[in-house]
Amino acid sequence: TEELLRINGLSTRFFTEQGQVNAVDNFDLRIDRGDVFGIVGESGSGKSVTARSIVDLIESPGEITDGEIWYNEPDLADAVREDRPEAVDGTFVDLRRISPERRRSLRGTSFSMIFQDPESSFNPSLTVGEQIAEAVEVQRRASANPRSTRARTRSEEYSLGSFVLSSFLPSKRYVTEASRERAIELLELVGIPDPVERADEHPHEYSGGMLQRAMIAQALAGEPDVLVADEPTTALDVTIQAQVLDLLDELQSETGMTILLITHNLGVIARMCDRVGVMYAGEIVERGTLEDVFDDHVHPYTEGLLGSIPDIEGEAGRLQPIDGNVPSLLDHEMGDRCHFADRCPNAMEDCLEHPPEYDAEGSNDHAVRCVLAAQEYDERRAIPDGYFDETR
Ligand code: SF4
Ligand code: MG
Repeated sequence: TEELLRINGLSTRFFTEQGQVNAVDNFDLRIDRGDVFGIVGESGSGKSVTARSIVDLIESPGEITDGEIWYNEPDLADAVREDRPEAVDGTFVDLRRISPERRRSLRGTSFSMIFQDPESSFNPSLTVGEQIAEAVEVQRRASANPRSTRARTRSEEYSLGSFVLSSFLPSKRYVTEASRERAIELLELVGIPDPVERADEHPHEYSGGMLQRAMIAQALAGEPDVLVADEPTTALDVTIQAQVLDLLDELQSETGMTILLITHNLGVIARMCDRVGVMYAGEIVERGTLEDVFDDHVHPYTEGLLGSIPDIEGEAGRLQPIDGNVPSLLDHEMGDRCHFADRCPNAMEDCLEHPPEYDAEGSNDHAVRCVLAAQEYDERRAIPDGYFDETR
């Protein structure tokens, strides 16, 4: 296996009137090429912000403030080495240190993203086929001429909220016969029946599951290395959910692409992933193989999550509520302690300092951010009474 992505110390903050929100806090991750890596966590844990940070979709008042996103791409490394040697390490390129134009040109061809709500990825006034053909054409032009600025498709403009502008753009701007044919192939690949006819229909003529498939087709237009899927099946009913997961699974084995799958559903993780990171309050608190995390976990938060038996057929796969709420992630409220300390049944005095990341026993990729990974219980002192009331 070959390492594809190496993320070090990534932090994304939102600067709000209430204060600084540390949505992603000192986030580390390694993903191998061809893996399906899952990130699981409750809503508000920072999963989506993490995904958007990786594909460069953070908007004001949000900002990536720290960290490195090393991406293993030899051609890109060669292209960047001249101008920005500091952004290159062997065949790896730090995406945070390349120009915004170059970063944008990777969208679609290196990284693609799919979302929970496919309607947000399609412009309602254009046919599905036309939008996918545009994505094909834009990616084709961007790869043919890496130094040019990559244009946006009208579905991208729509998702970014520039609908008024995009509806006045000349129609069939980028659609050629070849890209239209490719769009139909892609629709067929994702299992749309009668793709030639369906290509000429508008998004509202598709069912939810079909539109989800079409969104996947659109995301595959540039043959991305990495598909980032943010809760791709959450809005679908259970049968369709299973079909879309099967589709992602098939596409992964056919294309060898890497998938970063964001979900709150442990059943989805168990079914799809090779490795998993458990996210809590902006950081990965435990990560490893499925076995490390499901069977040999150390972190009390992971333990709490697994209180439910994952089962894709029903609601049991939803995360089990743990007493207390996900913390606000406001910098001044979180302080320096372990992010889970106020909900953790095992919290002791040494948890009032933020624990470093430990490698646990077993596979060397299994890492845990908790003092329990390093210390014996009997060495630990209780937290003084009333501590959390005073700091809240
Ligand atoms: Fe619980 Fe302490 Fe581990 Fe945090 S460091 S999860 S509070 S035992
Ligand atoms: Mg989310």
